Amino acid sequence: MTELQNIAKKLFDDGSINLLIGYSNNENGGTSAIFIDNSADIDKLIYNENCHQNLMVYFQKPEVKKFGKLAFVVSLPGLKSVLEIASENQIKDGDAYFIAIDKDGNPSLLQDFHQIEDFITNNQTKPPMGLLKLMEKINNMTREERWQYWTDEFSKCIKCYACRSVCPLCYCTQCITDINIPQWISTESSPIGNLDWHIARAMHLAGRCIGCGECMKACPVDIPLALLTANLNKSIAIHFGDEPGMKADYKYPLSHYKLEDKENFIR
Ligand code: SF4
Ligand code: SF4
Repeated sequence: MTELQNIAKKLFDDGSINLLIGYSNNENGGTSAIFIDNSADIDKLIYNENCHQNLMVYFQKPEVKKFGKLAFVVSLPGLKSVLEIASENQIKDGDAYFIAIDKDGNPSLLQDFHQIEDFITNNQTKPPMGLLKLMEKINNMTREERWQYWTDEFSKCIKCYACRSVCPLCYCTQCITDINIPQWISTESSPIGNLDWHIARAMHLAGRCIGCGECMKACPVDIPLALLTANLNKSIAIHFGDEPGMKADYKYPLSHYKLEDKENFIR
């Protein structure tokens, strides 16, 4: 039995959890999420370099919540998601256990937000070089070139909403895109419909996106969505000095105010 399986088995054996969400091998030679509700299936639990999916996307699902006591196998992006949704009052300390996988692939059990904050501080990684280069290229564009770049990218969107489904921070019970009385966002895949959707999506994630990159990986037409939210995060960090997913009591700048706030940015 691996160390990861040992930790998981102990959680089931001592009655701490009813459901564990982790990874297993799938029939296509890759890995998939696995939902384990008893220790007899623990041998299916694995972790390797192919385990990328941010499993915290399942935390908000009613089908998962009904199990009550939960555990998740999570690497750095998953843990940042935990702190971000904690700061949004969607999870409380003690609501779930986290089997954290460090940079070297070693598991450890984290039981509270303080331990998660320490883990994140000690396990920071840089985004892949290809992404950093693309981000630099976009940032070096003129405003007009940048507008054209994103308009061209958005024109490829087929409105499948896979990016929304995999995002751990897209958890509204009814997304603005699904409201049709009144209809705020045009549903068709057209220049205006796509622009509506992407502006709404980006603004809802500005300063909240923890940069897991799941939206980008899920997009069937390869739109580099996470770069848009990363750039918005950068602007928010410059103006308000905060980064999402680093602490459980993060005060999201776009939903908090101070009486002494300057108003000179409102023009
Ligand atoms: S990178 Fe994409 S999927 Fe991950 S939190 Fe940000 S917007 Fe959501
Ligand atoms: S996953 Fe890609 S194609 Fe699908 S809605 Fe999102 S951006 Fe559009």
